[in-house]
Amino acid sequence: MQKIGHFINGKKTEGGSGRFADVFNPATGEVQAQLALATKAEIDDAVAKAAEAQVGWAATNPQRRARVMMAFGALINENMDKLAEALSKEHGKTMPDARGDVQRGLEVVEVCMGAPSMLKGEFMADGGPGIDLYSMRQPLGVVAGITPFNFPAMIPLWKMAPALASGNAMILKPSERCPTVPLMLAELIKEAGLPDGVLQVINGDKEAVDALLDNETIQAVGFVGSTPIAQYIYGRACSNGKRAQCFGGAKNHMIIMPDADLDKAADALVGAGFGAAGERCMAISVAVPVGDKTADALIERLVPRIEKLKVGPYTAGDDVDYGPLITAASKERVKGLITSGAEQGAKLVVDGRDFSLQGYEDGYFVGPTLFDNVTPEMDIYKEEIFGPVLSTVRAKSYDEALDLTMKNQYGNGTSIFTADGDTARDFATKVNVGMVGINFPIPVPLSYFTFGGWKKSAFGDLNQYGPDAFRFYTKTKTVTARWFSGIKDGGEFHFKAMD
Ligand code: NAD
Repeated sequence: MQKIGHFINGKKTEGGSGRFADVFNPATGEVQAQLALATKAEIDDAVAKAAEAQVGWAATNPQRRARVMMAFGALINENMDKLAEALSKEHGKTMPDARGDVQRGLEVVEVCMGAPSMLKGEFMADGGPGIDLYSMRQPLGVVAGITPFNFPAMIPLWKMAPALASGNAMILKPSERCPTVPLMLAELIKEAGLPDGVLQVINGDKEAVDALLDNETIQAVGFVGSTPIAQYIYGRACSNGKRAQCFGGAKNHMIIMPDADLDKAADALVGAGFGAAGERCMAISVAVPVGDKTADALIERLVPRIEKLKVGPYTAGDDVDYGPLITAASKERVKGLITSGAEQGAKLVVDGRDFSLQGYEDGYFVGPTLFDNVTPEMDIYKEEIFGPVLSTVRAKSYDEALDLTMKNQYGNGTSIFTADGDTARDFATKVNVGMVGINFPIPVPLSYFTFGGWKKSAFGDLNQYGPDAFRFYTKTKTVTARWFSGIKDGGEFHFKAMD
C-alpha cells in the first residue's frame, strides 16, 4: 500500500506518529494510500524550522521572491495534466474540472508575480518641520494554511502564493482526503527556487490543526472548510492572539425573474448545481423562480437537461459531467437528506438516490436530484447538502426572493437572471452576500479582485487573494522621521535649497 507523508525542509518525509488515515479512490471505493497523521511534536518541530528559514526569505527582496512565483507558475503550467490527474484520482472530479482547479490557483500565483507593487508602503514628505512619514508592509513570520478537500490545488495555492510572496513561511495542512497535489506543489515550488523550510506541507487531522492553533510562533491562520470548523478555528486562533480568516460553507441562491432567458438560466443552473457533484462552495443549490409561470417553465427546461447528465469516473472521458462524492459517508448523508426532503413534503422531480454504474457499484456516486416546492423549514433548505441536489423554492415576487436570500444564514455567493438592469442593480446593491452574479451563475471573482463570503460563510474581516491577501499576510509599520538639517531656528521649516 502506498504511504503518503509530509514535505518538510525541502524533502518528502514519512512521518513518525504511527497514525494513518485511508485515502480512497472515490470512483471505486478502494483504499489507494495511507496518509501519515502528524503529532503535535512533529508540528512544533516543523514550525521551528520554518521560523529559521523565514528570516532569510523575508530578507530576500520582493522582486526575487516574485521571480520564484514566475518560475513556479511556469512549472505548474508544464505539469498541468499530471497535477490534474493526481487530483482526479483522489477527489473524483472530471479532468476538465481538475484542470480548472489548478488553473484558478495558478491565476493567484500570477497575481503574486507582481507582489512588489502590492507590498509598497506610503510616503509623505514634510508632514511637519523636517519630518517625513513612511509606512512599510512587513511579513508576519510563520503562518498556517488549513484547507478543504474540494479544491486540492486551488485553495492551497490561494493560501501559499500570497503568504510566501509577502515574505512569510507557511505550514500548509491540506485535507486528509486529497493530500497528493499539495505535496506535488511543494516539490514544484522548491524546484522554482523557494528555500527549504519556507513551505512545510504537513498532513494530519484535528491533533495537527490544534497544534498549529496553539503554537506561539504561528502568527496567522488562513482556513477554508465547513462553517462549524471555521467558527471553531477562528475562535481558538483569535483567543491565542493570532490573526485569522476562516471561510466556511454556503447555500447559494439563484433568482430567476419572469423576464429572464429561461433556456440560458436552465443551462446555468445545471452547470452550477451539478458540476463537481455539487461539491463547490459556490455551487448553486437553491433556484428561486419568481412566479408560478416562471417556475413551471423552468422545471420543464431543467428536467431533460438533468436527465442527459453523464455521471461517471474521470477515466471515462472528458464528456463526463460529474464524478463521485468524496466519501461513503458523504454519499449516505446526501441520500439521507434527499429522503428527508421527500418526507418533509418537497416534490422530488428527479431522484438520484438509486443511481448505480456498472463496474463502479462501490463508488460514491449519487445521481442528479431536483426538488420543487421546497420551503425554508425543510432540512434540505437549511443544510448545506454539498451534493448533486438542486432545490427549487418558489417566490411570489422579487421582494420575496430577495428576502429569502437575505434571511439565509450563509452569504457566500448568489446570482440573479433577468433582462432588467434596474432589478439586477437593486439586487446587487441590497443583497447581504459577498459575491454576486448577474446572468452569471458562479461569480468567483478573478484573482486580482478578492474572494469572500458574508454571514456564516466567513469569519474574519479580509477576503482571500487579491489586494486583501497582501494585507492579511503583512503588518503595517509606520515611521515618523525628522532630519534636523531641514529645520531652521524655532522649528520653522525651510528647504535647504532656499537658504
Ligand atoms: P472540513 O471543515 O471538514 O475540513 C477542512 C479542514 O479542516 C481540513 O483540513 C480538515 O482536516 C480540518 N478539520 C476537520 N475537522 C476538524 C476539527 N474537528 N478540528 C480541527 N480541524 C478540522 O471541510 P471539507 O469537508 O474538507 O470541505 C468542504 C467544506 O468547505 C464545505 O462546507 C464548503 O462549502 C467549504 N468550502 C468553503 C470555501 C470558501 O471559500 N468559503 C471554499 C471551499 C470549500
